Amino acid sequence: MILVRNYVNGIFVDSKETIEDINPATSEVIATIPRSNSDDVNEAVLAADKARDNWSSLSLDERRKWLEKIANALEARSGEIAKLESLDTGKPIKIARAVDASRSVANFRFFAEFSKDFHEQKFLMEDATNHVIFKPVGIAGLITPWNLPLYLLSWKIAPAIVMGNTVVAKPSELTPLTANLLAEVLDEVGLPAGVVNIVHGFGHETGQAIVSHPKVNLISFTGGTITGKKVAETAAPMFKKLSLELGGKNATIVLDDVDLDSAIPEIARSGFLNQGQVCLCGSRILVSDKIWNDFLEKFIGHVSNMKVGDPSSDDSDLGALVSLSHRDKVESYIHLAEREGGEILCGGKRPSLESPFDKGSFLEPTIVSNLDYQSRTATEEIFGPVVTLHKFEKDEDAVEMANCTDYGLAGSVWTSDSARGKSLAEKIETGMVWINTWLHRDLRVPFGGVKSSGVGTEGGRWSLSFFSQPVNICIKE
Ligand code: NAD
Repeated sequence: MILVRNYVNGIFVDSKETIEDINPATSEVIATIPRSNSDDVNEAVLAADKARDNWSSLSLDERRKWLEKIANALEARSGEIAKLESLDTGKPIKIARAVDASRSVANFRFFAEFSKDFHEQKFLMEDATNHVIFKPVGIAGLITPWNLPLYLLSWKIAPAIVMGNTVVAKPSELTPLTANLLAEVLDEVGLPAGVVNIVHGFGHETGQAIVSHPKVNLISFTGGTITGKKVAETAAPMFKKLSLELGGKNATIVLDDVDLDSAIPEIARSGFLNQGQVCLCGSRILVSDKIWNDFLEKFIGHVSNMKVGDPSSDDSDLGALVSLSHRDKVESYIHLAEREGGEILCGGKRPSLESPFDKGSFLEPTIVSNLDYQSRTATEEIFGPVVTLHKFEKDEDAVEMANCTDYGLAGSVWTSDSARGKSLAEKIETGMVWINTWLHRDLRVPFGGVKSSGVGTEGGRWSLSFFSQPVNICIKE
């Protein structure tokens, strides 16, 4: 049993009340975490406020060195990160190793290196020089979801602190373990007290207390669209700097000239990675009518061979969903699909697993066909191992179908003609489109959604800009 505590002002502290943390693969309680209230959040904000002046007066180079130290210390615990992430989320250990552990280290290393070139800019006039300097914004409130816990938390903490801000962060109450490991790492490397404070608890209590705290100047939130609206309702009238990375319902477009044999494993990966619980997952697969039958046969063949089971086994392709209640939600969409006239081509059921996994929140990878592309199942975010298949005739039809949801996060196009793919990609209303690949990330490029998928952009210089305040000083010669 792990005892998670808040990390405030460089000290691990208890809270009055606690919340149980459950292993979703077995339904066993694995930890208790603080149920932080507004007083606990206030302590964290005061610590961040006290640390501000010293931290922001360090040079960028000095702060970059801290990021390198954190990256090295985290890397030394990579194996442990992967184990804790798999235990807490239910995801297969091989995914936790390849995606979560490695990217969490890479985030600190990337921003340590990339921020080197983010410095003052000069704009000359005939009789004056403008000096644009980048100041810290102040105290950053960072709120993150459960699907990629340390990956997303480090993606926010690294650029926030390198630009001279101090932080109050709240990880998801469902997956607190690696945020706790990060706190241990920050403590071990001796990061100055109060620069990063981590408070655990429920969203409507701890999260809301961070968002509404008058001393928190900036909110970076990643989570669901409905929660994002609530965060905006509180933060916007307080004129806080705000970034919202929200839900998605991403289209995977398969053109008639695709090389199916190489594309199918990647299309399946994009539908089912992390049990379909990645905001970028391609959960609506739009397939040209010319290759429909061939696609169906190969795709169903591939997906029905994916192995669901013990997350700690290297053989498992899919582990457990994050909680029993989340599985209920995903299953409710499978029932909705049936009511909407959908045909389940594969999966749709709970796998039969031996003890202790018979108590876990497992679900088979599920393929649904025959649905109207505008149906609720095909347009609402399910965030589980469920994909819907839709047939199209012309490329323009695929674009119309791709754009028919409220979401606008990502998409992918599969074709042997990359120029045709690019021209189609330009018409898709999302923040990013991959062609013949998926989740192929270069940390320098912009990351963010349009429409109900969010406001603001992360990645490379976009993150550094968000976590800084540009100030122009115009000097007349
Ligand atoms: P969620 O919105 O339920 O919770 C996200 C975080 O917000 C959690 O830490 C939660 O405790 C907190 N929270 C909840 N209510 C709050 C409130 N009123 N005020 C402040 N904080 C509050 O999301 P989730 O279920 O944890 O994550 C799944 C969602 O996240 C999906 O919709 C997914 O698409 C989205 N997501 C988006 C991205 C992206 O980059 N766009 C990445 C990952 C996940």
